[in-house]
Amino acid sequence: MHITVDVSKPSVARMYDWLLGGKDNFHSDREACDELLRLAPSTRELAVINRLYLKRVVHWLATNGIRQFLDHGSGLPTQDNVHQVAQRVDEDCSVVYVDIDPVVLAHGRAALDENDRTAVIQADFRDTEGIFAHPDTQRLIDLDEPVAALFVSVLHCIPDSDDPWGLVRRVADRLPSGSYLVICQLASDDEKTRESVTEFMRETTGGTWGRVRSFAEVDSYFDGLELVDPPVDVSLWRPDSDLSPRQATQEWVEYGSLARKP
Ligand code: SAM
Repeated sequence: MHITVDVSKPSVARMYDWLLGGKDNFHSDREACDELLRLAPSTRELAVINRLYLKRVVHWLATNGIRQFLDHGSGLPTQDNVHQVAQRVDEDCSVVYVDIDPVVLAHGRAALDENDRTAVIQADFRDTEGIFAHPDTQRLIDLDEPVAALFVSVLHCIPDSDDPWGLVRRVADRLPSGSYLVICQLASDDEKTRESVTEFMRETTGGTWGRVRSFAEVDSYFDGLELVDPPVDVSLWRPDSDLSPRQATQEWVEYGSLARKP
């Protein structure tokens, strides 16, 4: 497969990979992360905390009967991806990964070649219509059965003008009752932090990034859904001794929860 990647500009997926200790990143990504860490030193800890939350929440969903996962903005493959966590509970779990970054598609396809219950789609997660119509989604996701739609650390990547609240509703509307939505994003109640980090990330990504939001704004993603637990700093969501989450106490947190579609 031939893909074209501009390595001179940082990408969110590759920056996140670097923060998690991965190797699929370039000089521009590392430089941008260095600057981000100067601005918000807790960012690396947040990335790790977020990934641990993702593992705990997928494990919870799989042990509570969910067998299908639609992962919006899945990121580069790392250790313990969604399908590995879910398929440890039941090997029949199916996962559709969606990401806009071409590097995710290349690495994801290579990693998943052996797994016919899993697919990676290169798409913009705002394109709900296209994602649900994609042959891999149609093959792996049965809309008569509950689905977990994941929006983990991704909604801050899109601006208010793209209506992330409407996106969550649009996806929820397509899923059967008993499905779940997992949502967390970067949040802070300090206006200065929200503004400085948002401005930095917008500049870094060439104006394509969204916004650090307030806790109340994240709470409202869950309107109309039944919260399993109230939204929290995700390091505090059902902490598990095996996974030893740590609490981020600094500038910003990954904040969210999961909710059931009634
Ligand atoms: N969900 C993963 C996790 O929590 O470990 C990865 C989160 S990473 C911070 C954000 C991911 O969202 C990146 O891989 C990025 O490429 C992807 N992304 C950002 N905007 C997107 C969009 N509009 N459509 C699809 N993917 C997007």
